[in-house]
Amino acid sequence: MVSINRYLSSQKWDLLLKALPYQLPTTIIGHSVMNQPIYAHRLGNGSAKVLLWSQMHGNESTTTRALLDLFAHLRSPDGTRLLEGLSLMIIPQLNPDGSSAYTRLNANKLDLNRDALDLSQPESIALRKVFDSFSPDFCFNLHGQRSIFAAGKRGNPATLSFLSPSANEQRSYTPARVKAMQLIALIHKNLRLQIPDQIGRYDDTFNPNCVGDCFTSLGVPTLLYEAGHNALDYDRDFTKKMILNALITALNAIEDGDYFNHSTEEYDQIPKNEKDYVDIIIKNVNVKTESGFFKNQELAVLYQEEKMGESVFFRPVYHSFSEKIALLGHRVLNAEDILKDSEVEFMEGKTIDIS
Ligand SMILES: [Zn+2]
Repeated sequence: MVSINRYLSSQKWDLLLKALPYQLPTTIIGHSVMNQPIYAHRLGNGSAKVLLWSQMHGNESTTTRALLDLFAHLRSPDGTRLLEGLSLMIIPQLNPDGSSAYTRLNANKLDLNRDALDLSQPESIALRKVFDSFSPDFCFNLHGQRSIFAAGKRGNPATLSFLSPSANEQRSYTPARVKAMQLIALIHKNLRLQIPDQIGRYDDTFNPNCVGDCFTSLGVPTLLYEAGHNALDYDRDFTKKMILNALITALNAIEDGDYFNHSTEEYDQIPKNEKDYVDIIIKNVNVKTESGFFKNQELAVLYQEEKMGESVFFRPVYHSFSEKIALLGHRVLNAEDILKDSEVEFMEGKTIDIS
């Protein structure tokens, strides 16, 4: 299976911006390890300031694609009105090297979302400088998550997930954290009609080297957005639309203060993200391993994303098997419909030959 949309290199992104029928105000806020410019776009002159960044992890492109649609929305009458009350600073690709290589990490093989205190990487320093000089009232930390997450134990796929990160070890509800919780509760309520029971909430273990935790501890409400999975939409076109909705909903609520009408209890009721999904479950499989032969098993298969040229290829690999598997599958198939051989030799992580 191949996705044409998941791979969004910095070169591809530049072309998309150049093809716009209008020019975005653009500044260079720093350079990556490989000396690529990191761009930011400042829009609006309103009093409430929001800093957004995407593709801090280079292989998480869905939210960046949603930003392109956000730019278009901000030129509509609704968007123009919104910009009267807001000032936005938008960094679409914080990690241009990782975006081009389709890696989570930057070119020094470091996770920029574990570098908020160390500030050892030029990309982290660029973000921190903007944070200090722009002095935002809110931050949106835009990411993408794997297809393994359910919204609640054995729930629907988590098409979107959120977190209001902790500001300290005690995970206490600081004023900044509460604001982010209220905003997420509002997003959850507004998007429930479109994606019922498909919104999850991330674990809030405190890690001061994560950017969201760091910025929240500095008193700025920081929302983690995760673009997740829905049905068989591996291009994540539907998810992109939901991210856009969630962005517009939150920006409107910041502009009109509507999030004050929501509570931390509503946030706490959002189901937790659970690692309950695999991409395929194959039933009635005969499995051979080093320790024996097992008839009529259920076999779990995961896709591993690999960049090939200008696309992303999903390589199916063995995950686990058992008589009755405790996982959910985005697809559930019968062995004879998908397997090339009547029995398989199981090895975790090995490519599986499927039709
Ligand atoms: Zn991420």
